[in-house]
Amino acid sequence: MRAGFPDFRLGNVLATSFTGTLSERHGTAVERIPTPQRLVDWLAVSGLTVDSCTTAQLDLARELRESVHAAATAAATQDALPASAVQVINDCSAQGRAAAILTPEGKRQWRLSSASRVEDALGVIAADAISIIAGERDGKLALCASPTCRAAFFDTSQSRTRKWCDMNTCGNRQKKARFNANQRKNAGLPL
Ligand SMILES: [Zn+2]
Repeated sequence: MRAGFPDFRLGNVLATSFTGTLSERHGTAVERIPTPQRLVDWLAVSGLTVDSCTTAQLDLARELRESVHAAATAAATQDALPASAVQVINDCSAQGRAAAILTPEGKRQWRLSSASRVEDALGVIAADAISIIAGERDGKLALCASPTCRAAFFDTSQSRTRKWCDMNTCGNRQKKARFNANQRKNAGLPL
């Protein structure tokens, strides 16, 4: 983590990890990619290394992020997909020129068309979003049960009953709140 910046919340799904770079959307929002360099950092830990990013590219990334968030939220609640969000996702997907590469160890990596092509990285994220919103992958889009979060996440649990976008943050906070309420109740204190 770079000093002074909020750390990242990384999940297993690229598209929803990306939307998680803005968290607590319904509370006190935390912007986790506040500067172009922080987007470079996020892309690096997500397997999409670029060597630079402009302010305009950061703006584009945030536009994609909010579009994925809007479309994934609509998909989770079975509403119609917002047309403007779909347009942004499709444009980003079409503009990306990343290639999937198979490593000798049998892993997939992304090769960007040039080291500074943030647009290629965004294309990979957009395509990932398309695959989960289109229901092509094993899992289900759902919204985090935390009222201050409501992040869209991709539930791959067998029972499809996951409630939180992230067990370590939203899930834990809820557990703690319940625990504290119980403690107060047991001690005869007002809740
Ligand atoms: Zn959450």
